[in-house]
Amino acid sequence: MAKATRVRLLDSGTLVIDQSHITWNIGCGTPVRFPVYSVLIEHPDGLFMFDTGYDLELVNAVLPFELPEQTPEQTVPAQLAKCGFKPEEIDAVINSHLHFDHCGGNKHLVNATTFLHQDELREARTPEPFERLGYGDKSFDHPNAKFELLDGDLEFADGIHLFHTPGHTIGHYSMLLELEGGRPLLFMADVSYTAAAYASDLQAGFHIDPVAGVRSIRRIKRLAKEWGADVIFTHDAEAFRGYALAPETFTGSGVLSAAGGAQ
Ligand SMILES: [Zn+2]
Repeated sequence: MAKATRVRLLDSGTLVIDQSHITWNIGCGTPVRFPVYSVLIEHPDGLFMFDTGYDLELVNAVLPFELPEQTPEQTVPAQLAKCGFKPEEIDAVINSHLHFDHCGGNKHLVNATTFLHQDELREARTPEPFERLGYGDKSFDHPNAKFELLDGDLEFADGIHLFHTPGHTIGHYSMLLELEGGRPLLFMADVSYTAAAYASDLQAGFHIDPVAGVRSIRRIKRLAKEWGADVIFTHDAEAFRGYALAPETFTGSGVLSAAGGAQ
């Protein structure tokens, strides 16, 4: 049994949404450009990815108002090449959820098994009317896709813990990664988008169950404290500027997160 040996963040470019979507109903009329990225995990049991970013062509076709900016270097194949890997070498992808900015690169991972919450797959295939844009990229359902459906909390591999944190979506998972040496990393995906939103228990304006969403933010805070983990923000431009990007190794934010166990 051994834990992850190396973690890298794969840059997927940026998108724009209104501030009021980042901090639900607060800050209307201020467009914000925010980062999208995925996580590459080298583990003794295999080569894994947590989420896969967005597909530029899809966003230009379906959600062009989010003004995607993604260079050819920011695609999943190009980011993996920077790390010395090919898409077909990925053994498994864990999707936090199936919104278009978290599963756009799945289709490149032709040999990977897709692990996700059972309810998420059902919801993404037949979304509620207000979720249709969020689930606007169906390419996760590609011909080579093999799904392993999960339920509840579990340890996916030694030191890779998945916590069911619904609210933003029905089957949303957050990931806590124990490292060989160093603080655990807590990737909460879209439970809350930014450090400022998280500090105020604010979830994004996109959600299926806002009450569950608030509970999930509080759960992340408890987990961070229990584990002494470094909370990593998914769509926070300022935090992202401080993150080491592939091909560099990512070891954390370098600062104690708000609820990172310091108190
Ligand atoms: Zn997202």
